[in-house]
Amino acid sequence: MPSSDATRLRLRVTGAVQGVGFRPFVHSLADRYALAGFVRNDSQGVLMEVEGARVEDFVAALKREPPPLARIDSLECEAITPLRDAKFSIEPSRDGRTRTRITPDAAVCDDCLEDLFDPKSRFYLYPFVNCTHCGPRYTLTRRLPYDRAQTSMAAFAMCEDCARDYADPTNRRFHAQPIACPKCGPRLSRLSPEDASLKALGPDAAKDYEPSGAHHAAIIEEIVTTIRSGGIVALKGIGGFHLLCDARNETAVAELRRRKGRDAKPFAVMVADAASARRAGVLDAEELRLLQSIARPIVVVEKREDFAPSVAPGLSRIGLLLPYAPLHHLLFHAAAGADWRMAPQDFALVATSANPSGEPLIVDDEEACANLASIADLIIGHDRAIVARADDSVTSVIAGAPAILRRARGFTPEPIALADDGPDTLALGAHLKTTITVTRGREAFISTHIGSLDDRATIDFYRETIARMLDILDMTPQIVACDLHPDLASTRYAEETGLPIMRVQHHAAHIAAIAAEHGIAGPILGAALDGYGYGDDGGAWGGELMLVDAGHWRRLGHLAPLPLPGGDRAAREPWRMGVAALVAQDRCGDVFDRFPGVELAGKVAMLASAPNVARTTSLGRMFDAAAALLGVRQLQQYEGQAAMELEALCERPFALANGYKIESGVLDLTKLFAALLKPGLDAARGSELFHGTLIEALASWIFEAARARGESRVALGGGCMMNKILAEGLVSRLREQGIEALLARKAPTNDGGLSLGQAHIARQRKA
Ligand SMILES: [Zn+2]
Ligand SMILES: [Zn+2]
Ligand SMILES: [Zn+2]
Repeated sequence: MPSSDATRLRLRVTGAVQGVGFRPFVHSLADRYALAGFVRNDSQGVLMEVEGARVEDFVAALKREPPPLARIDSLECEAITPLRDAKFSIEPSRDGRTRTRITPDAAVCDDCLEDLFDPKSRFYLYPFVNCTHCGPRYTLTRRLPYDRAQTSMAAFAMCEDCARDYADPTNRRFHAQPIACPKCGPRLSRLSPEDASLKALGPDAAKDYEPSGAHHAAIIEEIVTTIRSGGIVALKGIGGFHLLCDARNETAVAELRRRKGRDAKPFAVMVADAASARRAGVLDAEELRLLQSIARPIVVVEKREDFAPSVAPGLSRIGLLLPYAPLHHLLFHAAAGADWRMAPQDFALVATSANPSGEPLIVDDEEACANLASIADLIIGHDRAIVARADDSVTSVIAGAPAILRRARGFTPEPIALADDGPDTLALGAHLKTTITVTRGREAFISTHIGSLDDRATIDFYRETIARMLDILDMTPQIVACDLHPDLASTRYAEETGLPIMRVQHHAAHIAAIAAEHGIAGPILGAALDGYGYGDDGGAWGGELMLVDAGHWRRLGHLAPLPLPGGDRAAREPWRMGVAALVAQDRCGDVFDRFPGVELAGKVAMLASAPNVARTTSLGRMFDAAAALLGVRQLQQYEGQAAMELEALCERPFALANGYKIESGVLDLTKLFAALLKPGLDAARGSELFHGTLIEALASWIFEAARARGESRVALGGGCMMNKILAEGLVSRLREQGIEALLARKAPTNDGGLSLGQAHIARQRKA
């Protein structure tokens, strides 16, 4: 009961505070401190008034122990006149223009896992168990506000038990929009091209034909049996279908590569628990924390255990992830039997997105039947629609902190806080690994990973993503930002919008993305170490020192260019860059010794020697050249393969004395390339020499520019910063010289982060 010396506070909370169990949490806190008052959702977030003697304790606890999915951005507090209310209540929401958010999808929580494996629980072995603290959100929400009717759960009428839990403020499932149980919720179904009609029966029809427990147990059992016997299973998950097979069975993994048409790009492996992950990889505390975080991303770590060789051919690192949907836990449970949740398990799954090469992830049961029948031996769908596709996110720990390499499930659509207000902006990315960014006030929303805009299906997904982001954020952009390249699908889309266009140079955007996520509004010096981007002069850039300020950029320096014989083909065929590096040293005579049996080598050498050949400052292409000269890789099957394999060979980088030259901002690596040709140098030693000298060279180049401008902080961006040895080497070398290096952490350092940087520059220029 409120005491007579009561004070009353009005508290306004903004952030991710709706649909995350915030109101019941406030209710229970009010009970704990014997306070009266109310709490309700509105268009700003959550508003509450509390009255009693212990309001201070209440506020402290509110900050200290919010629910797992909540994130408080601001909390305003004001003392008002006490009203002598008798009790505390949860009031109905007030509508208004949406300024709220959807939280990202979250891994099943420990309490729900207890329910899942408790024979006495009504959720026992039910693959769709969830509560307010966990479960899918973004992927099943059609519109805001986040209410069941606006999600794909609208198709399922709650049973009495679920309706009771949903309405009970003391229950963990109070207002849990996707609440479902075996009686009323979604069901798995076995799909094949012939019985795709199962779906046509609809959720209601499917319910009665057999008891759900036995039905689900049989399907789980069949999945595990298929995988154990070397088969491939397509399984509908949270953000789309996965293809799964036994990560220890070389025949199965090789067969998956063959059927999927994916030659070498590494597969991620799902292991049962943290103990299994520690056996599979070398994980430090930060990597373990990231692996087990609520977003449950793939974490790329040093390999310890060898799975089937085809899982990640030629690489020293592996992407690991833990089960995040209840369904995944059921698979490991069925494979291991009882008492498995803490101990290391042998059962390990290759888990890769189910999509025809390069196209968007498949989310629909019928689409899966049509497209996956030739890849999977068993296809398991379910009748809860996936509204928004989301791949697994990919992360890595670089220089002691997490970095997101692919931002998707678990992170989308969590906004990034910006330093300043600015006009509402739509930024469209470039071509590879595309994302879009929408800014609203001081928030930047990066879309889920879309992919390369190479085919119709991906471009459709791109357009769908733009429409959906603008819709759920209830936002009308004032400006559109795109790449400087005139011929990209994204640039053409920008032109179609009819909005004022800001065209942003690719590498300026890489640097600006880092400024944006680190909340830097002023000028920033940065190095973009990258693959390819269209330069101010139309050239192929990719190793640039730039100053980005007030929405403009200036190129201060670059790598000394190498010939780019064959343009795009040079990016797929590293040997061409190897030849270019020889030509640059006037060593055309060595071309046939270095590349024996390469039929076109002579022709390409001539092409590279021509005075009018295109040139590139791309560091990515220089990695290709080094890999080719060292005999590591001549043709690559996926972007970055040569560089990744070169990195895999490097254990202790060391620098060649005087292995580079810097003149008026141009960094020349000719001497380093010459050193790679020394007779008797093996590939591993060559890789260590290349990495070590490159770190020295780039660090002095960046340091000189910083000193000349009196800067003590630089941004390091671009695709090459995914190379952990290079990134960590540069950060520590610069630190020794008193320069703080900022890396991309929340947005990918590769082209997945470009849209954020474009938005940052466009807003600043407009401001
Ligand atoms: Zn839960
Ligand atoms: Zn139910
Ligand atoms: Zn780039």
